[in-house]
Amino acid sequence: MSNTYYLSQTNEVELFEAAASMNLPILIKGPTGCGKTRFIEHMGEKLNREVYTVVCHDDLSAADLIGRHLIDENGTYWQDGPLTKAVRDGGICYLDEIIEARKDTTVILHSLADYRRVLPIDRTGEVIEAHPDFMLVVSYNPGYQNVLKGMKPSTKQRFISLSFTYPEKEVEKKIIIKESGADENIAQKLVDIAHEIRQLSDTDIQEAVSTRLLVYAAKLIVKGFNPYNACIHSLVESLSDEDDVLEVLEKLISLHF
Ligand code: ADP
Repeated sequence: MSNTYYLSQTNEVELFEAAASMNLPILIKGPTGCGKTRFIEHMGEKLNREVYTVVCHDDLSAADLIGRHLIDENGTYWQDGPLTKAVRDGGICYLDEIIEARKDTTVILHSLADYRRVLPIDRTGEVIEAHPDFMLVVSYNPGYQNVLKGMKPSTKQRFISLSFTYPEKEVEKKIIIKESGADENIAQKLVDIAHEIRQLSDTDIQEAVSTRLLVYAAKLIVKGFNPYNACIHSLVESLSDEDDVLEVLEKLISLHF
């Protein structure tokens, strides 16, 4: 059973369940705030598997994933990292923004992501066979991707891929209502605003407005904020720092609120 609210967009739940039953790893692509993390949390509960989430960054070392020797008053001891815990005990290891991690860090995933399903730990000499409930899930945002940072094909080609986009209007409206307690009328206006912003070209704004930001706007409105101001503080200011772009977005909001 899952208590975490997640409204599915297409067949992602079935695909995830199928991949889990076949021991295949999953790669999720999609812009920020479109529900990737929420989806994994939901699936973890549904499949009754613990989720170990690691948000990747360029300083992330293999030891941060695998584990390291630590020292206490009794001497040194080994502490498993999140990846090793999931491999050993069974669970979903979710590496968010995998593209941010250094290549030498992602290489350790290879033997886990294919038929071998083993994790060699050089520092202890151990080779751990993955628990039957171990599953590897990684995500990245293709929007931020630059030429240098693309994922290595040899890594990418080990995964079942799922592409996420912002939910379609009716789904997104339901999500906003459920997550914020806003009424239908407010949710409809927010979805319409998002739709219009998403049609602006990428040169104007770094990335389109996310479902997460719409939920923030709705929450501020439910708290009693004037809807126009709520949208300025959640949707507009976080999308651009350029005065002329801000002006366009402000005008767009004022047409609705
Ligand atoms: P991502 O991991 O893609 O950056 P999140 O999963 O954190 O995004 O989603 C951001 C927020 O958007 C969630 O906290 C939730 O409020 C809302 N959300 C987005 N998509 C969904 C969905 N399909 N079902 C329920 N909530 C969603």
